[in-house]
Amino acid sequence: MAQLISGKEVAASVYEALTGRIQALKARGVTPSLTVILVGENPASQVYVRNKARMCKKLGMGSSVIRLDESTREENLIQIIRQLNDDASVHGILVQMPLPRHIREFAVLDAIDPKKDVDGFHAVNAGLLMSGREGFRACTPKGVMRMLKSCGVPLAGANAVVIGRSNIVGKPMAMMLLEENCTVTVCHSRTRELEKICAEADILVAAVGRPRFVTAQMVKPGAVVIDVGINRLPDGSLCGDVDFDQAAEKAAWITPVPGGVGPMTIAMLMENTVEAAEHAAG
Ligand code: NAD
Repeated sequence: MAQLISGKEVAASVYEALTGRIQALKARGVTPSLTVILVGENPASQVYVRNKARMCKKLGMGSSVIRLDESTREENLIQIIRQLNDDASVHGILVQMPLPRHIREFAVLDAIDPKKDVDGFHAVNAGLLMSGREGFRACTPKGVMRMLKSCGVPLAGANAVVIGRSNIVGKPMAMMLLEENCTVTVCHSRTRELEKICAEADILVAAVGRPRFVTAQMVKPGAVVIDVGINRLPDGSLCGDVDFDQAAEKAAWITPVPGGVGPMTIAMLMENTVEAAEHAAG
């Protein structure tokens, strides 16, 4: 039976380390602050935004949420972002995705000052990751790397398979695993023989968005299984991309949903915001 990698526990150690850094900033008159922009009424987005704001407050950080109507025009949203870019009291800017269809995601993300792009989605930060240089790393894959390191499994030379190639999870995840010298395979909806590829993974990361997509035959005995998926079932409960009960029989380590990658994503957002404030404070 697999051992659990608790996102809550790893996140708690991240927060412990952040507390001192936040106090040090405050002693210098700087309160690290995050501004989140939410466009429209997406219920899942509202929950995410609330959780982020709540965590900022809990840590003694500044937080504000700008709520905009679904019909907001792209240029108005970009104008608000520019004002936040120029506001020295704002260290991190996050635009909650998804955006309404009439707004171009890239145009909005690229309007954020890369030094305030705590989500790590700006083309500059994505490029810095790609070229192995320092910059803001996307929070979800960054959190996954922290979880992998917490369980002490050797990463160098490990066969890592990522299912999913999105810009926010799959692609940056693959780059971060590569940075740690894993041999990385990225699978997606057109991949042939997916089961066979997954069954050879020492580290299997599922970021598909399909409930219980990863079954027992896709898990190598002794593997580390990281479940990024957050899927809501018809009964309202949350479920990952991995069939937890089946996979836990074969894996050495596994993350739960909820309580796995989710809490780590928020922890990394807080860490990135503190880092942004430290840079701004010199
Ligand atoms: P996405 O829809 O952008 O990407 C899904 C990926 O899965 C695509 O690249 C696609 O090629 C791949 N895919 C789809 N069907 C497939 C199939 N049959 N076989 C192989 N690959 C297939 O989703 P995303 O934004 O990357 O998110 C993925 C999941 O992670 C979602 O459940 C999302 O809610 C969750 N998520 C969780 C967190 C967190 O903090 N825990 C953060 C971001 C996303």
